Amino acid sequence: MPHLIEPASSGRAKCRGCGGRIAAGDLRFGERLPNPFADDNAEMTHWFHVRCAAFRRPEPLLETLEATSLSVEGRDDLLREARLGVAHRRLPRVSVAERASSGRATCRACREPIAKDVWRISLVFHEEGRFVPAGFVHVTCARAYFETTDIMSRVRHFSPALGDAEIAEIQALLG
Ligand SMILES: [Zn+2]
Ligand SMILES: [Zn+2]
Repeated sequence: MPHLIEPASSGRAKCRGCGGRIAAGDLRFGERLPNPFADDNAEMTHWFHVRCAAFRRPEPLLETLEATSLSVEGRDDLLREARLGVAHRRLPRVSVAERASSGRATCRACREPIAKDVWRISLVFHEEGRFVPAGFVHVTCARAYFETTDIMSRVRHFSPALGDAEIAEIQALLG
């Protein structure tokens, strides 16, 4: 069975991308994956908010979004974000932006320590269907690491607690 986009039949499924609930009636993206716990080529479905999938699973989302006959709100924007994530292979790793809570982490781009209170972006790797925390990069190292500074829609999406002033600070650091 191919991946799918459909209205959620209940509000029970959790989004793999953000961990939030997917409300009944909202469109959701289902990524079909082989079930490692079954013997008979069985598949399982991982559910996402469509926007979370555009950021975190751009390839399967793009394929499905281009094929669906459903009317999807914000379709052009979703296509744009997913294509960006396909073009820049590390972009789907963008997670929460935050000030470093300690000075212990090392930046994956420049290999220097990230000083306490300095803005950093946390990363997740997609491994066997799961998103695994995978360290941090300085916001100022975003271009070196992601090969683009077009990351703000992802940062806003995965850091909903940030206020306008903080968003402006991050934007300024991105240059
Ligand atoms: Zn989500
Ligand atoms: Zn760095």
